[in-house]
Amino acid sequence: MREILHVQGGQCGNQIGSKFWEVICDEHGVDPTGRYNGDSADLQLERINVYYNEASGGRYVPRAVLMDLEPGTMDSIRSGPYGQIFRPDNFVFGQSGAGNNWAKGHYTEGAELIDAVLDVVRKEAENCDCLQGFQVCHSLGGGTGSGMGTLLISKIREEYPDRMMLTFSVFPSPKVSDTVVEPYNATLSVHQLVENADECMVLDNEALYDICFRTLKLSTPSFGDLNHLISATMSGVTCSLRFPGQLNSDLRKLAVNLIPFPRLHFFMVGFAPLTSRGSQQYISLTVPELTQQMWDAKNMMCAADPRHGRYLTASAMFRGKMSTKEVDEQILNVQNKNSSYFVEWIPNNVKSSVCDIPPTGIKMASTFVGNSTSIQEMFRRVSEQFTAMFRRKAFLHWYTGEGMDEMEFTEAESNMNDLVAEYQQYQDATADEEGEYEDEEEEVYES
Ligand code: GDP
Repeated sequence: MREILHVQGGQCGNQIGSKFWEVICDEHGVDPTGRYNGDSADLQLERINVYYNEASGGRYVPRAVLMDLEPGTMDSIRSGPYGQIFRPDNFVFGQSGAGNNWAKGHYTEGAELIDAVLDVVRKEAENCDCLQGFQVCHSLGGGTGSGMGTLLISKIREEYPDRMMLTFSVFPSPKVSDTVVEPYNATLSVHQLVENADECMVLDNEALYDICFRTLKLSTPSFGDLNHLISATMSGVTCSLRFPGQLNSDLRKLAVNLIPFPRLHFFMVGFAPLTSRGSQQYISLTVPELTQQMWDAKNMMCAADPRHGRYLTASAMFRGKMSTKEVDEQILNVQNKNSSYFVEWIPNNVKSSVCDIPPTGIKMASTFVGNSTSIQEMFRRVSEQFTAMFRRKAFLHWYTGEGMDEMEFTEAESNMNDLVAEYQQYQDATADEEGEYEDEEEEVYES
């Protein structure tokens, strides 16, 4: 058994996390009381232990820890449809709130609550046969998921240095939010994620909003609409971890396939078919259509165009009953037709797989996870918003008031700018300029 321990923090983290559990409970045939009620026990239960503990009476309990600095979001989860499935002791919350202030989450309010969270994490970890790692759901734009979320990630790294850390990180967009300091919170978080996370699935509210507005024709997308896309994507990304199969069957294999350089672990995720809430039963696609869509910039959950960069690596995961041969052919076809968009110095950098079980309500779906240098476009967007304010030290007193030093802002800013430069460097790299290239790498790290 190779267990994963899930943690969700803050309003966004708790909202997307609880949707994730609803979706995967459904896929594994686990009902809201934790009982197995499915129709394909072989497939649904074979790897159920990756995400669930088995309690007395044959109940399946999510290996999930829920944390927040205010009680509201967790109260609504508790009273929601799957509220009773979670272990009551695993709800850890405070009353103060973080007021969209990363410093409160990371250094003051969050630091007071973190030991209570770590106690629960430790208890869950001790119950595992062989823990493979952690997954954390959070937003980067607020105070709790962002500040306290990254505090937890660094504490876990300290205590479990050889376990994997996967994050589902929601990047802020002014299209969806009305708090001006979000670029500060996000940049401070990215600084942490570069160092302390192994793999980050980027969920960018800017792209999610655009998908809802342009593709799904929703005129005023709500968080519920955005989260529907997120939960479908999270289900797709974790499918290879939850069901039997070879490709990316654990967090480490996923990392080995996708990460050629340790800092470049921020993934673009795509999904097909895109559906709005409640409409999925009407959509049915063929393998070529799924393949075409999953590689399309319009289907990416990150506001960056893959055609502006190059893929270092990518994974395409198909779900449902289909011919593996057709999948292989289609993927090869994409690579051959678009070879300039894949770095030639990593041969065979696209992997594909098929999982028999489709998401609930559709016959076939596909999820794409790519390590594309074009993701720098999103970091640049956040960086520009950060710099515009930081140049004038706007809003800084909220952070220094919690004891933070201006220096940490400067460091976070340059770490993210370095990250952008590293993506650019590998985007420009060709197969035959190896020597030159090493020098450049040093330059970037030293700056
Ligand atoms: P926290 O509770 O202090 O962690 O703060 P939030 O999670 O509310 O963080 C604010 C950021 O998260 C903003 O960028 C919001 O747009 C975003 N956000 C909040 N709730 C949701 C949600 O349910 N879904 C999505 N996609 N984004 C959210």
